[in-house]
Amino acid sequence: MRQRLSADTYSAGILSGDRVMLSRAITVIESHLPEDRILAGNILKAILPHTGQSFRIGITGVPGVGKSTFIETLGNYVIDRNKKVAVLTIDPSSKKSGGSILADKTRMEKLSRSPGAFIRPSASNSFTGGVARNTRESILLCEAAAYDIIIVETVGVGQSETMVKGMTDFFLLLMLSGAGDELQGIKRGIMEMADAIAINKADGDNMLHAENAAQEYRNALHLFPASASGFQQKVVTCSAKHQTGIDTIWEVLADYQQCIRGNGFFERNRKSQNKDWMHDSIRYALESEFYKSQLIRRKIKTLEKAVEAGTELPLDAAEELLRLFFSKINTTENQ
Ligand code: GDP
Repeated sequence: MRQRLSADTYSAGILSGDRVMLSRAITVIESHLPEDRILAGNILKAILPHTGQSFRIGITGVPGVGKSTFIETLGNYVIDRNKKVAVLTIDPSSKKSGGSILADKTRMEKLSRSPGAFIRPSASNSFTGGVARNTRESILLCEAAAYDIIIVETVGVGQSETMVKGMTDFFLLLMLSGAGDELQGIKRGIMEMADAIAINKADGDNMLHAENAAQEYRNALHLFPASASGFQQKVVTCSAKHQTGIDTIWEVLADYQQCIRGNGFFERNRKSQNKDWMHDSIRYALESEFYKSQLIRRKIKTLEKAVEAGTELPLDAAEELLRLFFSKINTTENQ
């Protein structure tokens, strides 16, 4: 059994930079228990005045592209510049459990041993809404613990990228050079979202291929609409393994920050992300209440069967369930 501490104990620990306390607080926010949700809310309220000052970087790319090697290299580069770095990894599709923490730590071996780093994989969660909430709240906790750079790593192509883009300041897409198929395998939408694309594994025999691929992407990006940040997307090459090209990426990050802080996009984007966060929270809360409701649970199986059998239209079934759910709320409210 985990011992539940007071919100003040958690927040004091986090604000003093205690990594164990930070980690335990993240476990609290990931919990579904109602009493943990209350505790999580109180911890968040206490640390809120100490949040917002970090630079949040989202990193994505297909498995094997070199994300963990890259984060290890970039993370150590950042630490060498006397900054603290937190890494949160998201993998909504996986059914990872506690074991993945070890796996992730071996993936970023040197970084995980550094006192200036904090690495935390996401807990497995049944649906994206939960992962988004946990990650957003974890970002705030890491900021309160004075991490300067927060990296949110995501795996895969699709929904999780949009989610990470919606909670970070800078979105980096890692890619590989492929023989002649540079523009395949990654959805155009994800390339459009990226503030920079880094072609990784630009080393050895692959160097020239990587440079060629970078040029192709530069040409392709010119055809995309201008990005809302006002920053011209960059394409660079790097070798996470041999630690080359990282200086350039660091410069891109600095240029980007200068650009978006200068033109007001940084503030605007964070405000709009907060608004989206509110709406996501509403959706998440409604959805969980709906599926938790006994009334719905009793009815939903029958309707699922009817929909499968074709005797009931999916839309009608959904409407019936929603009517049931909201009439229950109205009855409770009028009592
Ligand atoms: P992830 O699945 O995206 O996290 O990828 P990993 O970081 O685990 O890397 C996958 C494989 O690619 C590993 O064997 C790495 O050693 C290798 N790798 C990563 N970055 C580079 C690089 O810059 N150059 C070369 N040659 N190999 C790399």
